[in-house]
Amino acid sequence: MTGLAAREAAALFPTYVRQPVTFVRGKGTRLYDDTGREYLDCLSGLSVTSLGHAHPAVAEAVAAQMRTLVHVSNLFYTHPQVELAERLAATLRWDGASTFFCNSGAEANEAAIKLSRRHGKRMHPEKVNVVALEGGFHGRLLGALLLTGSPAKHEPFQPLGEWVTHVAHDDAAAVDAAVDDRTCAVWVEAVQGEGGVRTVADDVLRAARAACDRHGALLVIDEVQTGIGRLGAWYGWQQTPVVPDVVCLAKALANGLPIGAVVARGPGMDAFQAGDHASTFGGGPVVSAAALAVLATIESEGLVEHAAAMGTVLTSRLTELTKRVGIAAGVRGRGLLQALVLAEPAAAAVAAAALEHGLVVNAVASDAIRVAPALLINEADLDEMAGRLESALRAIDAEGNGRHR
Ligand SMILES: *Cc1c(COP(=O)(O)O)cnc(C)c1O
Repeated sequence: MTGLAAREAAALFPTYVRQPVTFVRGKGTRLYDDTGREYLDCLSGLSVTSLGHAHPAVAEAVAAQMRTLVHVSNLFYTHPQVELAERLAATLRWDGASTFFCNSGAEANEAAIKLSRRHGKRMHPEKVNVVALEGGFHGRLLGALLLTGSPAKHEPFQPLGEWVTHVAHDDAAAVDAAVDDRTCAVWVEAVQGEGGVRTVADDVLRAARAACDRHGALLVIDEVQTGIGRLGAWYGWQQTPVVPDVVCLAKALANGLPIGAVVARGPGMDAFQAGDHASTFGGGPVVSAAALAVLATIESEGLVEHAAAMGTVLTSRLTELTKRVGIAAGVRGRGLLQALVLAEPAAAAVAAAALEHGLVVNAVASDAIRVAPALLINEADLDEMAGRLESALRAIDAEGNGRHR
């Protein structure tokens, strides 16, 4: 164990399984560890640093706001918060939209749960249930955890309540059958990120939309991981046949500063009344200024279109790997959120080998490697990614073949 690992083990809860690297600096798509070694970052935190590391526009905006006004609470008006809500509504291209700001993805989902209940209870006091998808991920707070469709994550903390029904992520008929008059919302992602980079099919989304319309429930799309350009559109739902009533945002919105948002249109817009929800830090001037800089940079540099173009390049680089290396079996996801699927459950070993070859990716499932670079990645970076990943795959492939002989 290195010195820092030993100190951490003595000082922090062991909730995180860390890779044996200590990063001290980043610039653009590159990270540097405490020995000065350079890495190509194709994970972006966890789909967070979409403008790369230490982006000057974000750094300038944050520094300027720090020198001007950091915090006054939500008892008062502040310019950056209102401006950010207006800018977000413009990216959603909704006629009208209402936003609540919080500090994380889980908090955005918690806010959306409360919003959905307020909406449902206007129709019936027991209209508080939610239908969500197996494999979905919505955060670690108690309500968001119950929405999350992995029983193993619930088990140590039961009981969590009985207001969520989970159905298979690829079963449109099951979604349709699960929604009834006590359902206040249906919860989906456009692409399940933590669930292994699995696209939710159009027919499932259509079934969810139709069931919500039939029963007066809200369709909530958790865009915490897929939003803000990641999939090659501002939001994942914009590439699907459905329009949600509510979206949850966080991760990339302030390029690494903690922020979350829930945005509603239509029937969700007037569900919250004064006093229904609050956050001490939510929508504070500094994170709002950072998010405004992120949105402005994405717009001025055409990064949504760029992400779509680079997503096509990424798909072809990963597909080439499946033809050249035995252990690489398939590709899923879209835009700049993709996974290389392996022929065996060796993702942890491949991700560790990739790190040794100077590439940051992660094992999003036991048999899948997530590749989620910054939106401003270029083709030369993606060629380098493919080269380093191929070396890692070959190292693990050779080990596996050695075992089998
Ligand atoms: C990461 C993630 C969350 C949780 O976000 P936190 O900021 O870690 O609370 C929720 N939903 C989705 C889709 C995510 O990817």
